[in-house]
Amino acid sequence: MADTANRIKTFAVLGDPIGHSISPAMHNAAFEALGMPCEYRAFRVRLSDLRDAIHGARALGFGGLNLTIPLKEEALKYVDPDPIAARIGAVNTIDFASEITGHNTDGIGALRALDSAGVDIAGRNIVIIGAGGAARAIAFQFAYIGGMIVIANRTQERADRLARDVTIGLLELEKRPVVRSIGLAGLASEIADAEILINATSVGMHPHPDATPVSSDLLHSGLTVFDIVYNPLRTKLLSDAELRGATVIDGVRMLVHQGAEAFRIWTGREPPADVMLEAALRGLENRS
Ligand code: NAP
Repeated sequence: MADTANRIKTFAVLGDPIGHSISPAMHNAAFEALGMPCEYRAFRVRLSDLRDAIHGARALGFGGLNLTIPLKEEALKYVDPDPIAARIGAVNTIDFASEITGHNTDGIGALRALDSAGVDIAGRNIVIIGAGGAARAIAFQFAYIGGMIVIANRTQERADRLARDVTIGLLELEKRPVVRSIGLAGLASEIADAEILINATSVGMHPHPDATPVSSDLLHSGLTVFDIVYNPLRTKLLSDAELRGATVIDGVRMLVHQGAEAFRIWTGREPPADVMLEAALRGLENRS
């Protein structure tokens, strides 16, 4: 165990690249607001150095770590994952409280983003576009609490695999998930019946802000449209959805709530989500 004479507890996000991370601004604002003697830093760590970085952070007495691209999947080799992170197949939060435990807070972040906007998930018809890392976390989490999910992906085999993984993974946890998969060609009829539409692809992200994963004529006023892309904050999908009378939720809320959940895991304290949101919005503004 490292000398803890330095009473400031250090937390960090590791990734490669890492220069544009908003996480230090969010977490440092939260520590300051709660008067906690803690700091949060960002370190560039290559995939091949991840194991040493995790063990080094633990030896130095760090309070916890976040992981971002491209480290989230590799980290599973070096941590004890909780049951959801193990099934998602990726870790974005590590805590050192007992062993080296891996969590995935992306799905909870998405859930709280919707919850904070007054949108329930259980029993609702939800279309998730995408089958990459973020879509996996959201599909597991939302199916876990009873959402009725359709996964639509450009590469349909990937959507099929995710639907199968969610079904098998949640049956093991004694849940009865309702999950189907389709290709993008099947989106029109699914969106017509959907209550919640989630873009979990990178379509619409900088530097292609004019792209959208869904033609605007498929959107309708009965939908809540949640775009997890946060750069730009107001994507074309959200602008189109608003014009069609849908309720819209932007991706920065997920970013804040996945961070807030990590904060809760590490510190046991209730995170000041509003302070973190303000810091994230300021960070995004300074970045652009
Ligand atoms: P990923 O694992 O690389 O997955 C990318 C997904 O986008 C795949 O489903 C891919 O489909 C699809 N896609 C990419 N280009 C496409 C195109 N031109 N047309 C249709 N589909 C396309 O990425 P990820 O980690 O899941 O991240 C996805 C997005 O979410 C990124 O923009 C990321 O910044 C954002 N994100 C936000 C948060 C947040 O807190 N708000 C958290 C995590 C991620 P194929 O399988 O066919 O390639």
